[in-house]
Order: sequence, then structure tokens, then C-alpha cells
Amino acid sequence: MTETVLVVPGDGIGQEVVPATVEVLEAVADFEFVEAEAGDHVKEETGEALPEETRRLATEADATLFGAAGETAADVILPLRQAVESFANIRPARAYPGVDALRPETDLVFVRENTEGVYKGIESEIDEGVTTLTRVITEDASRRIADYGFEYAAENGYDDVTVAHKANVMRVTDGQFLDAVEAVAEERSADYEEALMDALAMHLLLTPEDYGVVICPNLAGDMLSDLAAGLVGGLGLLPSANVGEDNALFEPVHGSAPDIAGQGVANPAATILSGAMLLEHLDYDEEAADVRSAVESVLADGPRTPDLGGSASTEDVTAAIVDRL
Ligand code: ATP
Repeated sequence: MTETVLVVPGDGIGQEVVPATVEVLEAVADFEFVEAEAGDHVKEETGEALPEETRRLATEADATLFGAAGETAADVILPLRQAVESFANIRPARAYPGVDALRPETDLVFVRENTEGVYKGIESEIDEGVTTLTRVITEDASRRIADYGFEYAAENGYDDVTVAHKANVMRVTDGQFLDAVEAVAEERSADYEEALMDALAMHLLLTPEDYGVVICPNLAGDMLSDLAAGLVGGLGLLPSANVGEDNALFEPVHGSAPDIAGQGVANPAATILSGAMLLEHLDYDEEAADVRSAVESVLADGPRTPDLGGSASTEDVTAAIVDRL
């Protein structure tokens, strides 16, 4: 069976790093690539950042590779994540030999609940100068993310599982989150530690080597994974996956980087590593490992893009990765 991969480069450097990733995927697998449009440039032309056709194609594809959207990011990526019904946002943050990292011993994977929490969008102004936000935590979604996190840790060889929370303050919502995690851990006979999310931010910074998989409610996962990005040398290296039951979307953590767009110097590593996650998701485990080791070898020996202190172009780096494959 030939899997269909929807390719949505989007805006800015998405137009550079996504074609680079398709080149890499073409070197290791025989997917059918379907390209679709989204982002600022589409809104300018049609008045709509995410055409219905793109959304539909995402629901039908086996997986989607997305680049970035600029001003219209929320109008594009949130509905696309919904289109693939993703409930888990997976954000690995790993330091690589040869890349200047604040904490070279970092090897973390954030498993972030992707559907609820404070991002449910229930906000209101109840009086002049008085606003509220409703935080939604359900037992089902909490159990589902916990199950995914424990499974991910077991499958990928991580011994340490930590659950981030703030149940000492958000007693009802994070209390329920913790209860759900505990129930799932018991069913799976899995070990884990609980950590208050504020203290965890400090510990991740000081001793990231003590942690492996970190299961988080939505906002905590968003913030802690960005903190971890700082530990490993910046945004150009961080991939991510939005995973649903039958579908998934893969994207770099970085945005459209308008400051360097069009110059051909964007680091393609984050998107190519997202491509490796896509390969794994579609059960191309060997090919995923090959892509990862090709990226690692190029990060170690060069060529490198300017964000990593080099002077190579996106094309040079991509060609070096394909060469190693
Ligand atoms: P957006 O509004 O689309 O999120 P942004 O510029 O606010 O764009 P990012 O796109 O994430 O946010 O970029 C933040 C900084 O990191 C910029 O200086 C950008 O040049 C740099 N950067 C991000 N991704 C890369 C990359 N792949 N290669 C090199 N530099 C990058």
C-alpha cells in the first residue's frame, strides 16, 4: 500500500524546509505526496487562511507534513490539528553532538494533552475590567494522554516518566488529571513521578538528565517544552507530532521566521526530524532511524546553517543529509 502524505508548506521558511523534508522522505520511502495551500499568502488571495480543500485533504491523508503559518497561524494550525483529531502533542527536545547546547545531556520528550485545559477557549468578560477563563480537564482525555505517554516511554526506552501538575492549587482539575494518570499507571504497572510544574521548570533547567518522558496538561506542556528548546540549542532543531487515533500531523516547533524567509538559510533539521516522526508513525521504523542518524551526522560534522554558527544554505544541509542516506 502506498501511503498518502499531505504536504502543506504554508508561509515563510515553511516554503523552504518542507520541500527539503519531502526530498529526504523521497530518499527513503515511496509515499504519494499531495500538496495543499494554507497561510497568510492564501488569505491575501482568497480571504481564507485555511481552504476547506486543505482541511479535507488532511482528514483523508495517512499523515500531514506542515511547515508554518505567519499571522494566520491560529486559523490554520488549530483547525488542521482538529482535522486529524489529534489528542497528543509530542515534542522531543534532544541535544545533539556538535551543536552548542546549554545542557548537552538533555534527552526529553514532552507528551502534551492537546485538546483541553485552558486552551479550550472558554473566556469571557463578566463585567467591565473583570475577565474569566474556564479550565477543562476530563477524565477521558487525561487517561488517554497518560496511556499514550506510558506507551511512548515503554516503546522508546525511556525509564523516567514524570507527570507535571499543579494540583496543590488547581485541586479539582489537576486533582482529576493526577487520579487518571494514577489509574492508568496501575493498569499498566508503570512507574512514574509527580512534579509540581513550577518546580519542574527549575529542575529541567538544572538537571535535565534526571528526566525522560514528561506527561503534561496542555498549557504546562506548551511552556515546559519551549523551556527545553532553550536547553538544546534553539528552535531550528525541534520537531513535533500531533497524533490522533487514525491520523497525525507533523510540524517543526518553530514558526514562519519572517526575518530569514526567502534567504535560503533556514535550518531544515526540525522539519526533517518531524519527517522522521512521520516515518515512525507510518511504521517505517528503520527508515526513521536512518533519517535521524543522517541528521545527527550532519549536525556533528557540518555543513551547518547560520543559526548553528555555519554558513551553509538549506539546500546544502539537505543535500548532505540525503547524501548520507
Ligand atoms: P511566527 O510568528 O511565524 O511564529 P516568529 O519569528 O515569531 O514567527 P519563529 O518563526 O519561531 O517565530 O522564529 C523565532 C526566531 O528563531 C527567529 O529569529 C527565526 O529566524 C529563528 N528560527 C526559527 N526557525 C528557524 C530555523 N528553522 N532556522 C533558523 N532560524 C530559525
